[in-house]
Amino acid sequence: MSSDPERDPGDRPGDERPVTGTYPTVPDPDVVAQPTPARDRRTGDAALRRAAERRLAAVVEGMSEAFLSLDANWRVTYANRAACDLNGTTRAALVGRDHWAQWPETAGGEVEREYRRVATERVPARFDHYYPRAQTWHAIQVYPAEGGGLAVFFRDITVERASAAERERLLLDSERARADAEAARAEAESANRSKAHFLATMSHELRTPLNAIGGYAELMEMGIRGPVSDAQRHDLARIQASQRHLLGLINEVLDYAKLETGAVRYDITTVAVCDALAAAEALVEPQARAKALTLTVRACTPEVAVRADPEKLRQILVNLLSNAVKFTDAGGCIDLACAHDAERVRLTVRDTGIGIPADKLDAVFEPFVQVRTDLTRATDGTGLGLAISRDLARGMGGDLVVESTLGAGSAFTLTLRTDDV
Ligand code: ADP
Repeated sequence: MSSDPERDPGDRPGDERPVTGTYPTVPDPDVVAQPTPARDRRTGDAALRRAAERRLAAVVEGMSEAFLSLDANWRVTYANRAACDLNGTTRAALVGRDHWAQWPETAGGEVEREYRRVATERVPARFDHYYPRAQTWHAIQVYPAEGGGLAVFFRDITVERASAAERERLLLDSERARADAEAARAEAESANRSKAHFLATMSHELRTPLNAIGGYAELMEMGIRGPVSDAQRHDLARIQASQRHLLGLINEVLDYAKLETGAVRYDITTVAVCDALAAAEALVEPQARAKALTLTVRACTPEVAVRADPEKLRQILVNLLSNAVKFTDAGGCIDLACAHDAERVRLTVRDTGIGIPADKLDAVFEPFVQVRTDLTRATDGTGLGLAISRDLARGMGGDLVVESTLGAGSAFTLTLRTDDV
């Protein structure tokens, strides 16, 4: 397939001149610039012309593009080295050959059509063509040349076309992957909606009879149904405590289901932080006292305010303080402090409790996750409180984060946007 090295035209480009005028001539700037005395003009012109031809031949020989020139009778008058290489032959074998005899497969197709059009209309043409012998794609440029012939350039675009095809394939793949991901996401969303709908319905259905249990227990305790003995009163108190506990759990599930379906409405307003802290403290203080914990709420100046839904802010703070009570042993301390700047208010609930292992710090915000280092404590709750609290915090433009040291205590910080009272 390689050309004969003996006859390789690239070795001596100036010696094997292409037939004059079978391809567009290239003006030589040096020649054009020099004035020639009139008496020497004819000999000078011929010498300069030969020099220009040699220079042009050298350029054409050195091109990476294959080049052919054809005369008006479709004979090959010149083929550069790249053209010889492309055809796996020598220039001697090509020059003088009839184009259609040399490349019979090109007759009757696009190549013939375009060549003939250029030959007749004398306007250049460009088209892409696959050359089966070399298994290569070429961008073919055809120019009318002097004497009714053609000058033809073949630029190898196999790689470009392959990469274009590859690009197309990748594009299709990525579009398919995107469609798959979108379908999976839609499916997951739909499954999530069904789950949330189920939870919301279930919670609702459970709350009604639970409220009835609480209501009837209260009526009995009040003696409305007749006298109540001390033992019965004791049992009724247990029934009520269990009812409240169960109702609390169900309310959490319902809250979470609502957050999941996006059914939560936020009534954002200006909330004075000291009021929010006092309200939360009042609700948790009895639990802390019952467990002999020291609950300290650090004073904060009355003008400190946040943009928040007051009900949801209270819910978050109560959840954080209740957890601190739940996970701190008797005699421990719980501290609620406030720090603020022009943009953010940070409310930190710190305890001296059991702490959270470092590898569970992210997980505690996931729904239904409970750190089971202490099973008796872990059974008390749903594992939804922190997931709900963080969603609520984010829903108000804030966030909830934790720092903790196992065995030493935890600090949950709620961040909200600062506001002016
Ligand atoms: P629940 O309290 O109902 O279990 P939460 O979502 O409020 O659910 O908390 C998830 C888990 O995070 C808890 O079960 C507990 O393991 C851990 N946790 C939360 N607060 C604390 C805390 N202050 N100290 C130690 N562990 C905590």
